[in-house]
Amino acid sequence: MSTPTSALPLVSHWIDGRPWAPDAATRLDVYNPATGAVIRQVPTATADDVARAVASARRAFPAWAETPPIRRARILNRFLALLNENLDHLAALITQEHGKVFSDAQGEVMRGIDIVEFAGGIPQLLKGDYTDQVSTGIDNWSFRQPLGVVAGVTPFNFPCMVPCWMFPVAIACGNTFILKPSERDPSASLFMAELLTQAGLPDGVFNIVQGDKVAVDALLDHPEVKALSFVGSTPIAHHLYQRGAQQGKRVQALGGAKNHMVVMPDADLDLAVDALIGAAYGSAGERCMAISAAVLVGDVGDRIMPRLAERARSLKIGDGMDAAMEMGPIVTRQALERIEGYVALGVQEGATLVVDGRGHRVAGREGGFFTGGTLFDHVQPGMRIYREEIFGPVLSCVRVATLSEAIDLVNAHEFGNGVACFTSDGHVAREFSRHIQVGMVGINVPIPVPMAWHGFGGWKRSLFGDMHAYGEEGVRFYTRQKSVMQRWGTGLSKGPEFVMPTAK
Ligand code: NAD
Repeated sequence: MSTPTSALPLVSHWIDGRPWAPDAATRLDVYNPATGAVIRQVPTATADDVARAVASARRAFPAWAETPPIRRARILNRFLALLNENLDHLAALITQEHGKVFSDAQGEVMRGIDIVEFAGGIPQLLKGDYTDQVSTGIDNWSFRQPLGVVAGVTPFNFPCMVPCWMFPVAIACGNTFILKPSERDPSASLFMAELLTQAGLPDGVFNIVQGDKVAVDALLDHPEVKALSFVGSTPIAHHLYQRGAQQGKRVQALGGAKNHMVVMPDADLDLAVDALIGAAYGSAGERCMAISAAVLVGDVGDRIMPRLAERARSLKIGDGMDAAMEMGPIVTRQALERIEGYVALGVQEGATLVVDGRGHRVAGREGGFFTGGTLFDHVQPGMRIYREEIFGPVLSCVRVATLSEAIDLVNAHEFGNGVACFTSDGHVAREFSRHIQVGMVGINVPIPVPMAWHGFGGWKRSLFGDMHAYGEEGVRFYTRQKSVMQRWGTGLSKGPEFVMPTAK
């Protein structure tokens, strides 16, 4: 935490269609993790600042909810065009504050764009259901209406894509929105707010409050905030879910993960090696769908391990803006220390450390938060490095004898976000998909992030709430159903009826 420093650019709040921050606000430092330098600051919203954003969203709601869905969609389509025009600028902001390699940041923006495209089809998605003549002279129809002011709280690891899981769908449905982005990499959100205003979004429909727990608690406690979407770590997801539900709010809270990739003896080994290396070490393992546990079935362990070790040792690690790099730095020094602490713990717990990524140095970037790729073999299910989310470039390999042992192992884990199975047997693939207790499944696909119209969500302690993010589940989350029964005519009254009405 820092006091205001005028020399550093400020990533402000966004309220009523413009940037805003009180002069006396407490500020947090934003780093470039590749250099270790503080490059910007971000204010931390107080409860009063949050109330200001809520008041703006509340004022904007009635007119926005009355705006025909096709006109709301047209604004989103202009925003879509601006996102495409500014894709590289947005990706560079992400790399600068998060650290991931630029091509991966471009991919992140593209996956955010997918959701904006989906939300542009909102007139079709909001079409209601109609039944003619449910009883003589009576019709019944149902349709969905927005909730009011809704909020989203997002993690550091996808500063563009995860906010895009929420706000395009929420505002397309007619809600007004308040985003609380991660304080580690807040610039992408602010830039998207500018683009939304350029696209013609009315002031107050989309707002940002920057900050930390204080801002999140103020959103949770504000009676005008009707629903909250959260993506982040499991303890905080659970806390938000409980506290929001106590206040009668709708909450969807997506949490942490430990994603397994099961490699069967009949798998195409070249494909499996590429998949494991990319999914374990891409974005330095800081993805909720990263593969952090490989389950090696039968003799596959002995065959695959030397190839994994060679590839993990030769990862190209450096500044994410260097196009030759495959992996960038870790987001903060604290996260780096946590990850390297887990590597030390794995050694203490008795796992075989095949590749040790600790202490990786990058020439010319000595202040950067770098670690190398780490590979463990013979990890046991009881070890903390297997049970807990490390959220870094550490791959733990567990060896099992059979497919059913592999399925039991995955199903016993507390998290259930993503999983993959590599095999060349269709029956194995079918059995695996049907019996695995995980929300998103890949067959010969290591990171099965569903497309915009399918919805995203894990099982078990990877998601608290009933509905997944985006897709039709997202539309349901941000709307409530109204059902109307209607009778028209003259001389319809036959006097009061004291029995339950039935179809006549
Ligand atoms: P985090 O839980 O630390 O922070 C997420 C958000 O919550 C941030 O906006 C943060 O400011 C806020 N926050 C932090 N502490 C809080 C508190 N005590 N009370 C209220 N709000 C608080 O997560 P992170 O480190 O930013 O992101 C990494 C985590 O997110 C990992 O666990 C990862 O698995 C998870 N994640 C999950 C998904 C998913 O879809 N399931 C997607 C992306 C990331």
